[in-house]
Amino acid sequence: MTPKYIFVTGGVTSSLGKGIIAASLAKLLQARGYSVTIQKLDPYINVDPGTLNPYEHGECYVTEDGAETDLDLGHYERFLNIPTSQANNVTTGRIYQHVITQEREGAYLGKTVQVIPHITDEIKRRIKLLGDTGKFDVIITEIGGTVGDIESLPYIESVRQLLWEMKEEDALVIHLTLLPYLSSTKELKTKPTQHSVKLLLESGVQPDILVCRTEHAITKEMRKKIALFCNVDSNSVIEALDVPTIYDVPLMMLKEKLDKTVLSKLKLSAKNEPNLESWKDFLTRHKNPKNEVRIGVIGKYVELPDAYKSIIEAFIHAGATNEARVRVQYIHSELLSEENAAQKLADLDGILVAPGFGERGIEGKINAIKFARETGVPFFGICLGMQMAVIEFARNVLGWKDAHSTEMNPKTKHPVIDMMADQKNITKKGGTMRLGSYVCEVTKGSKAYQAYEKTKVNERHRHRFEFNSKYLKDFEAKGLQITGVNPETKLAEIVEIKNHPYFVGVQFHPEYKSTVLNPHPLFVKFVKAAVTYSQA
Ligand code: GLN
Repeated sequence: MTPKYIFVTGGVTSSLGKGIIAASLAKLLQARGYSVTIQKLDPYINVDPGTLNPYEHGECYVTEDGAETDLDLGHYERFLNIPTSQANNVTTGRIYQHVITQEREGAYLGKTVQVIPHITDEIKRRIKLLGDTGKFDVIITEIGGTVGDIESLPYIESVRQLLWEMKEEDALVIHLTLLPYLSSTKELKTKPTQHSVKLLLESGVQPDILVCRTEHAITKEMRKKIALFCNVDSNSVIEALDVPTIYDVPLMMLKEKLDKTVLSKLKLSAKNEPNLESWKDFLTRHKNPKNEVRIGVIGKYVELPDAYKSIIEAFIHAGATNEARVRVQYIHSELLSEENAAQKLADLDGILVAPGFGERGIEGKINAIKFARETGVPFFGICLGMQMAVIEFARNVLGWKDAHSTEMNPKTKHPVIDMMADQKNITKKGGTMRLGSYVCEVTKGSKAYQAYEKTKVNERHRHRFEFNSKYLKDFEAKGLQITGVNPETKLAEIVEIKNHPYFVGVQFHPEYKSTVLNPHPLFVKFVKAAVTYSQA
């Protein structure tokens, strides 16, 4: 069948949750038997978010094929349980880079290269790329930013052109807006929504469906009023109330019949009722925990939890599997000293040391790891967290006081973490790390093996430094084992301490692969160890 396109735009303010609405709609369509994917168009000029500080834009998510992407792609994968790829995230930077490269190659010889048609053509090509694969019935394209932003204009114009080019039943626009509540007069206001639809209309785009974020239920009259002033059917005004968890949103959209409205507008049959049994099962376990554990997340971006989005979601998935509520306690690594670590970490049932780059907060991470190693509280180190576990062991067990990573101290006599050989001649920063999925061979009998229950796994990466295998024997002699390696390069992927309830560090990022239907086994076992620890 011809692929159908759904464009999701946002109005009034940012942060209304376009990504979650898009993922929830996709989930419902998928649960009805359609094959769906979601794409995010980001109007910034960075070619990808890989060079952005997490304070700017939250976590950088990594796909199987090694694209560094917006964190919304993480939601898409967690909801849909299918991998996304480079094609699922496009930025203005990438669009311009392509057009300018083409121009230098002479592709437009004799012509003035302009936003319309050259930039918009390239945007349209990128939008249609996923449909052209023939793999999807429906492609949902989320336009980042808020309608009215200068940088969103070429995207809205591209949507306008596509709507004009496509048959009416092949594409539609969902506009997400906010109905602010005035507590003094106790009413929801529709004016900002009307204005935001007018802004879209100025660009020639009439939304087909309005999803209205609101703190209070919308009355029938209000739906009518919004429909009348915004020129949509009244069953196309969808209420999106605040809910306790993002995983409630698909069920809320089901109740609002968003999926049915979409299907009827796209002239697709509603087929079977959506099969959401396993989703509901997950929600029941998530909401009815039998245990509770406190897990400290040690990082330097803790002021902004979006920086650790996938880790937090992985804890929700793993918590549900263990029927445990995971209370995440963010602990700033810069504030953890050797003296205060024991006191600050005393109440925890598990310690996760987060990924990261650079010097800031490093010693605090090492102090937290020392505490975990010595006291037996379950420990999970991810990427930089694993590297710090190696350094802690070198300093405090092997006695190499100056042991470090050459990322932080290029002159150390004990570079136990060192830059990977194929990284040494790289000078450009964008998209040049070891990125994406690689095989890891897991040692039988290890904690990692108990979790995976297999010896061959694929995990995603994002790093330049690695365990320095020159020191392998020294570490193993004292009890730090390498229990996962890359079969080709022999790069250490997993480290463990045998005589510890749960001490696992991984060079890769398991959090990117945890989904509602497939919670990541290492997170599941870590939470399980935390439950056991909390009961002891
Ligand atoms: N900075 C470390 C490296 O580049 C770890 C990266 C990470 O935690 N993602 O190897």
